[in-house]
Amino acid sequence: MTPNLNMFSLEGKTALVTGANTGLGQGICVAYANAGANVIGVARRSCEDTAAKIAAFGGSFQEVIADLSDIAVIPQIVAQAQKAFGRVDILVNNAGIIKRCDAVDVSVEDWDSVININERMVFFLSQAFAKGWIEDNKGGKIINIASMLSYQGGIRVPAYTASKSAIIGLTRELANEWSKHQINVNAIAPGYMETNNTENLRKDEQRSEEILGRIPAGRWGTPEDIAGAAIFLASEAASYVHGFTLAVDGGWLAR
Ligand code: NAP
Repeated sequence: MTPNLNMFSLEGKTALVTGANTGLGQGICVAYANAGANVIGVARRSCEDTAAKIAAFGGSFQEVIADLSDIAVIPQIVAQAQKAFGRVDILVNNAGIIKRCDAVDVSVEDWDSVININERMVFFLSQAFAKGWIEDNKGGKIINIASMLSYQGGIRVPAYTASKSAIIGLTRELANEWSKHQINVNAIAPGYMETNNTENLRKDEQRSEEILGRIPAGRWGTPEDIAGAAIFLASEAASYVHGFTLAVDGGWLAR
């Protein structure tokens, strides 16, 4: 039997992606627009680069400018998204920050800034969309962006590790509560990817070599590498996948 690949299409769907101006968020926006979705990119600065990449193949994209460090912006994000394309069907909680510092020196401000964006915003933005989805009974998809540091301790990144470990637990918890409403909550755990997030690591020759030497695929990942997993989890093909974190890591976790 020939498989029906339409199940992977996002035609007629609207996806909202946070951190859409660069890196993995940009890669996911481009992939979703390519799969047929209307895409809303949320970022604290212009997404012109993302918009240009999507316009190049005639895809549909609009930006919403918001600083995701404070959950007070959520009602405005929801309202602007609805104004742009009506119902949002897919939410990707991608925006995140990392601060590198010895654990003994981490300030309360730095701890809070990482937890606010990587964890607090993820929960309350998911809650805001899930409320609407439960009310209209049409389901939805949430994809959280986890990390290798959802599984491993890392070093000099305590708030980041705490927040990304929380993402796997939160993904399972929300799936347990919302699966019965046809809401799929899943996560993607990227390995070591070439984005701003890893710029300092890649500049450090010794760390960069150590990391590369441990990746079975023998190369850093790219924003394009995340596209397949992101489309799958947003599509009807994943309608019975709940609470799972899919690693896209060049084999890192297999070592
Ligand atoms: P990135 O290029 O630094 O992207 C992070 C995104 O989050 C940017 O769009 C950034 O906007 C946005 N952001 C940060 N703070 C924000 C705020 N207060 N308000 C609005 N937007 C904000 O890094 P990336 O690698 O693509 O990261 C995307 C996600 O993947 C993050 O959750 C990261 O933790 C995760 N991740 C990355 C890797 C990796 O190897 N790269 C591995 C595992 C997980 P600005 O450009 O304005 O800062």
